[in-house]
Amino acid sequence: MTPPPLLRIETLSKNFRLGSRFRQGGVQILQALKNVSLDVYPGEVLGLVGESGCGKSTLGRCILRLYEIDSGRILFKNRDISRVGQRALRPLRAEMQMVFQDPYASLNPRRRIGDLIAEPLRVHGTLNEAGVQARLLELMELVNLAPDHLRRYPHEFSGGQRQRIGIARGLALSPSLIVADEPVSALDVSVQAQIINLFMDLQEKFGLTYVFIAHDLSVVRQIATRTAVMYLGGIVELGETDAVLHRPAHPYTAALISAVPELTLDEAKPRIMPQGEPPSPINPPPGCRFHTRCPFAQERCRAEIPALAPGADGRAVACHFPLA
Ligand code: SF4
Repeated sequence: MTPPPLLRIETLSKNFRLGSRFRQGGVQILQALKNVSLDVYPGEVLGLVGESGCGKSTLGRCILRLYEIDSGRILFKNRDISRVGQRALRPLRAEMQMVFQDPYASLNPRRRIGDLIAEPLRVHGTLNEAGVQARLLELMELVNLAPDHLRRYPHEFSGGQRQRIGIARGLALSPSLIVADEPVSALDVSVQAQIINLFMDLQEKFGLTYVFIAHDLSVVRQIATRTAVMYLGGIVELGETDAVLHRPAHPYTAALISAVPELTLDEAKPRIMPQGEPPSPINPPPGCRFHTRCPFAQERCRAEIPALAPGADGRAVACHFPLA
């Protein structure tokens, strides 16, 4: 039996208002997310993929309430957290943490690593100073850094080590959910593999749940149990990673995979090249948002928004004419 989701997102929409400097004579609305619904189950790694600007990082930040949402709901452990105030959010922050793409940018360069990792422990105030110091040593061991690194400053570390520090900080309060936003995209390939292995080891050790955001499908293939593909603010395909990446049902997923030579599609699937550039989220096309680039678009696609509906292999697909 499927367990209840740890995180449920229901018809979430998020717009950004762009000031008049972007346009003469008024404010414009950028539709970053439109009616996104998604369940994330305890102990799973959900990969969130798509081109830059598709809304995946915005979704990650909305989940953690770093952005206010415009409509829809976010339920964590069956509790609606969509609009709870900052005070009520504080204990929740311990349970949901973020690991950022650029650990250097998220670490204050003037503070020692020990203070940076200890910050969430001190803010939450559940441990005395001796407990904080003991937890710091535990965390350093978990991310394979030496105890004496705690006295150093961020600039003294390599990119991979800084990401280990970011992970230690994210783990400090023993969260159940981690949203990792492109955590390996700034690293060399060999270092990427080490950090992905670290994420996987920690997941196994603590039964963590990850929402793992990446634009690189090869990364998601290594770590994600299920994968959600996003295009222009919406999820277009969601299912087991193996099924989605080898037998895509949505033309956009097939196009993403076609652009990665190392990924192979099942022989029956054609390689697809999308036409033109992605449309602007300020003025998205009507109907299926992919229709302006889809080689299979028909009249219905231009008029009717396809719902994310159940398809083959237990996956969901938002397409009027999914690939067979
Ligand atoms: Fe292409 Fe139509 Fe499917 Fe959109 S709904 S992906 S335009 S076939």
